[in-house]
Amino acid sequence: MKIEPREDFTPQETQRYSRNALLAQVGWEGQARWRASRVLVVGAGGIGSAALLYLAAAGVGRLGLVDGDAVELSNLQRQILHRSADLGRRKVESAAESLAALNPLCRVQTFDLRLNPANVREVVQGFEVVLDASDNFPTRFLVAECCWQYKIPLVSAAATGWHGQLLVASPGAENPCYRCLIPEAPPAAAVPSSTQVGILGAVAGAMGCLQAVEALKLLLGLESDLTRRLLAYDGLQGRFQSLARVKRPDCPLCGPRK
Ligand SMILES: [Zn+2]
Repeated sequence: MKIEPREDFTPQETQRYSRNALLAQVGWEGQARWRASRVLVVGAGGIGSAALLYLAAAGVGRLGLVDGDAVELSNLQRQILHRSADLGRRKVESAAESLAALNPLCRVQTFDLRLNPANVREVVQGFEVVLDASDNFPTRFLVAECCWQYKIPLVSAAATGWHGQLLVASPGAENPCYRCLIPEAPPAAAVPSSTQVGILGAVAGAMGCLQAVEALKLLLGLESDLTRRLLAYDGLQGRFQSLARVKRPDCPLCGPRK
């Protein structure tokens, strides 16, 4: 295919992103938008690995990456940003290296920490879209609350076993927030973790890929059903379900008390 040179893109960028630009909803205008955009991903695990790789590949200009862990051998069946040679390294370092190898045009800002109420605002502020790919409810609630307060669209994904869920919380009077669906964090004992019940790496990856799709659409201002629906994936049955989410009048985050 002959690709016409573009004034505002280098010849390398023009080649690299030609398949993006062919999409009617993207074009070179959309590609320029992605190049100028800032996206934060919380967690460089199974979900975050897939999301980050696709966001970098797509040409998002600046990626923020939060993770406070080191690479362990038991991570490698799903956390595809990291390699066997990375064992023991900080995950943010290993991830940043993989992303740079994939797309050196993408600038990566790393946060080697766990989010807490004292640092979450400082980390999240300045990003246009946040992807929650964390593995625990305290972090999910913290990120959801901060994003809603600062009116930053949030794409939240979770996976355990053969199952995954995905939703978009787009701050706005009409849209449900994360806590409209899950008002309070369930007790830790009620939520099986991947450490207890396992997880299929490809299921986590599928959720990360879908999360990247939603983030890229948000950056272009494209509508999505997932701002008012929850997408549930059952990898064992090979089934997707789309479930309606409603704004909860007594929501602790977006309700009238707030
Ligand atoms: Zn709410």
